[in-house]
Amino acid sequence: MTEKILQKFNIDAFQKKLIEWFQDNKRDLPWRHDQDPYKVWVSEIMLQQTQVDTVIPYFQRFIAKYPSLYDLAYADEQEVLKMWEGLGYYSRVRNLQNAVREVVDEYGGEVPDDPKKLGKLKGVGPYTKGAILSIAFDQPQPAVDGNVMRVLSRVLKIEDDIAQPKVKKQFEGYAEALISHDDPSSFNQGLMELGALVCTPKEPMCMFCPVQEHCLAFQEGLEENLPVKSKAKKQKKIHYTVLLIRNGKNECLIEKRPDNGLLANMWQFPMVPVDEIGRDHMANWFQMEYGIDVELSAKKGDLKHVFTHIIWQLEVVEARTKSDQAEDERLCFVSRDELDDYPFPVSHQKMMQYL
Ligand code: SF4
Repeated sequence: MTEKILQKFNIDAFQKKLIEWFQDNKRDLPWRHDQDPYKVWVSEIMLQQTQVDTVIPYFQRFIAKYPSLYDLAYADEQEVLKMWEGLGYYSRVRNLQNAVREVVDEYGGEVPDDPKKLGKLKGVGPYTKGAILSIAFDQPQPAVDGNVMRVLSRVLKIEDDIAQPKVKKQFEGYAEALISHDDPSSFNQGLMELGALVCTPKEPMCMFCPVQEHCLAFQEGLEENLPVKSKAKKQKKIHYTVLLIRNGKNECLIEKRPDNGLLANMWQFPMVPVDEIGRDHMANWFQMEYGIDVELSAKKGDLKHVFTHIIWQLEVVEARTKSDQAEDERLCFVSRDELDDYPFPVSHQKMMQYL
């Protein structure tokens, strides 16, 4: 199948155009200053689901704090989460730290350049593996994410649904067939850069595209119709009442989330699953769940937070308690200033305005 699609495609000319354009037009991004596999790895993990402009200051702060793989391996997890605060998808950084620790323990602190070993590390999926191997180690390995699939689906006029896992595999085959063996790093980064700057999801700038003459979708005027992507399932909405509980010393009650699952090990203000509990029973439920008596008062506002599979609909309510100490090990009372020492997800950071 791959061969049939590529039969009439001028691979050499395509590679040359793409690589030359990349060399002349690449953005000066901090992770492009050297080929250190650790930095390439950190940048690729940060860039998953996150815009380049958002990533730049995070990357700079993160690398200043953890300049080597050892610094990250030996760092305290809560401190690392704090450095990631606001970037979202926190499992990324927990996986990264676990993987980096494995590199220290198993590979003497050297990021493995063997595809099998690298691919087994936590959080290193096929895309990240291909990106590290090509950018840091100059190996001709495909690195296919949504961005690259969009570009290739247009260039090769592929009308398969890119939301399907088996189609992603096919795209890895196309990328493998196209990749330059002389400069795989520039080739892969060129595809990514083209997707980010020219071959954008809406209104691609075909008039300025370096590979326009090779692009089958452009030749047929189909660029806006590709890629084909079926809609993801609608996210499930979950309602919570979030309690901003203060005691007589004006300390706030905060809670550490479980050490696995969504936002693992992050901190939050306690959340009551209001659909299950019912509005009238929240104080009772809170006493049963956490052993603390609370008295609810004014509603402060509503917030919404969208995750990949769910949406949190959050009603923020003020509450008081007479307790000074929390027996439950998930909880602790902290002063307003001390809140800044704990990693909070963005939705809960926003609630701090109500304190
Ligand atoms: Fe994308 Fe247009 Fe370039 Fe084709 S010609 S690769 S659709 S920007």
